[in-house]
Amino acid sequence: MSHTFKSVCAYIRVSTDDQVELSPDSQRQKIKEYCQKNGYILSDVFEDLGISGKSADKRPGFRQMIAMCKAKEHPFDAIIVWKFSRFARNQEESIVYKSMLRKIGVEVISISEPISEGIGGKLTEAILEIMDEYYSINLSQEVMRGMTEGARRGKIMSVAPFGYTAKDHQYYPDENANTVRAIFDMFVNQGYGLMSIAYRLNQQGVKTRRGSTWENRSIKYIIQNPVYIGKIRWNYATHNGKPGTVSINDEADWIIVDGTHEPIIDDETFKKAQEKIAQFKKQTTRRVAQKHWLSGVLVCCKCGAGMAYHREDEKKHTAPYFVCPNRTRGRCPGQSTKAEWIERDFFNGLVESIESDNYHRTERENVVIDVSFEIKRQLSENDKKLERVKEAYRNGIDTLDEYKANKQLIENERLLLLSRLDKCSSKPRELTKDELLLRARSTIAILQSDECDVQQKADALRAMVDKVVYSKESGIMDFYFLS
Ligand SMILES: [Zn+2]
Repeated sequence: MSHTFKSVCAYIRVSTDDQVELSPDSQRQKIKEYCQKNGYILSDVFEDLGISGKSADKRPGFRQMIAMCKAKEHPFDAIIVWKFSRFARNQEESIVYKSMLRKIGVEVISISEPISEGIGGKLTEAILEIMDEYYSINLSQEVMRGMTEGARRGKIMSVAPFGYTAKDHQYYPDENANTVRAIFDMFVNQGYGLMSIAYRLNQQGVKTRRGSTWENRSIKYIIQNPVYIGKIRWNYATHNGKPGTVSINDEADWIIVDGTHEPIIDDETFKKAQEKIAQFKKQTTRRVAQKHWLSGVLVCCKCGAGMAYHREDEKKHTAPYFVCPNRTRGRCPGQSTKAEWIERDFFNGLVESIESDNYHRTERENVVIDVSFEIKRQLSENDKKLERVKEAYRNGIDTLDEYKANKQLIENERLLLLSRLDKCSSKPRELTKDELLLRARSTIAILQSDECDVQQKADALRAMVDKVVYSKESGIMDFYFLS
C-alpha cells in the first residue's frame, strides 16, 4: 500500500454548547494519535479556547488557520478536528467554509466522526455538492443559453415594448415606431432633455404603452432599451409581485442578446443617446439618493410611493432626510422629513404598535419547497443548547456574562430558524404577540448595531416588516408586518 504523507493542521475549540466536552489537551492528544496512525504530518495547531462574549464571534485561531489554508504555499492538505461541531458553529458556517476549502483542496476530517454525522451532515454534503456545481459553471452563460433557447421556442416574448407589436412570438414595428424615432432624434440631435420630450409628447396626446402620460422615467426607459437596435434584454428588473414595485437589477446582471426582430434605431444614434444619458448621470450625482435601511419599506402616506432617502449635503448644511419622490415631481404634497426623526419614530413605534395591537399584517406568498423538517430538528437542537448553557451557568462553569453572551447567540440562531420556518411552511402561521415583540426587539438590536452594514439592516427589517406608512403631520407610523 503506497502512502503519501499529508501535511495537516489541527483545530481545537471548546465551548459550552456541547454536553460531552473534551478538554483542549485531550482533543490535542487524540488528534496527534490519529495523525500518527494515519500517516499525517501534524504541522500546526490552531486553537480557540475559552469562548466568551465577543471573542466567540471572532475566533482568531480559526481565522488565522483559514488565512493560511488560502495562502499560495498551501501548507495543509487537511484540517483535523475532534468533531465537526468544533470546526463550525452552525450549518451555514459549515457550508460556507467547507465549500471554500474544498475549492482550494483542503479537506476537513473529524477523528470521531469518519462520515459526517446524521441528517445535518448529509444535508451539508448534499448542499456542498450543489454549491460546487453552482460554482463550476459559468452561471450567466448558462442562463443566457437557456433564455436564448427559450426565445427561439418563442416562450419569452409576451408583451412588446413601445413601438413594437408582438405577433407569433416575434416583434414587429408598429405605428408607434415613428414616435420612438422622434424620441431618439429629439434627444440626440435636437438637444431636448427627457423632461421636455415628455412634455412635447403629452402635448401631442401621445400615450405610453400602458396608455398613461409620459414622464422622465418612461422616456429614459425607451432611450436605454436595446430592443430598438434589434437586441433582447432580460433580467433587467425584478417584479416583486405587487403592482408598482419594480426594482431595476444591477447592470452586471442584465443579459443582452441579439434578437431576430427589425431594429427601429441605428446603432450610431443609440450609442450617442447612451453617452448623453451617462453625462446626465454625472451632472446629477450631487444629490444622490443613498440607500437607507428603511428605503423601499418606508412609504408616503399621501400617495403610497416609496420615500427616497437623501444623505446629508455638506455644502448646503442639510441633515439626511426622506422625501416622497412624487413631491419632487410635483405630484404629491408629502413633505420631506429628517431621517433622524423618522428613525426615532420608527424605533418608538415598532414595539408600541405591537403592544397596543395597532398594526397590520401583509400576507406573504407561499413557497413551494418544504424543508421544515430539517429546520424543526435544528430548532429542537437549539432548545437543547439553551438548556446546556443554563446548566453551565447554574453549575458555575460559565460566568453570568458568558451565559448572557451564549444565550444571545442561541436566541439569534433561534430567530433565524423561526423566520426560515415561516418562509418554508406552505401555510404560514401567524406569529403570536410575544413572538412579534421578540422579533421586533431583535430587529431593533440589529438596526441599532454598529457592526451591521446597511444591507444587513435592510435584510433584517424586511424579514419582519413589509411596509411602514408615515405621516409627517400626525407623526403616526402604520406598520405592516409580514404575517
Ligand atoms: Zn407622496
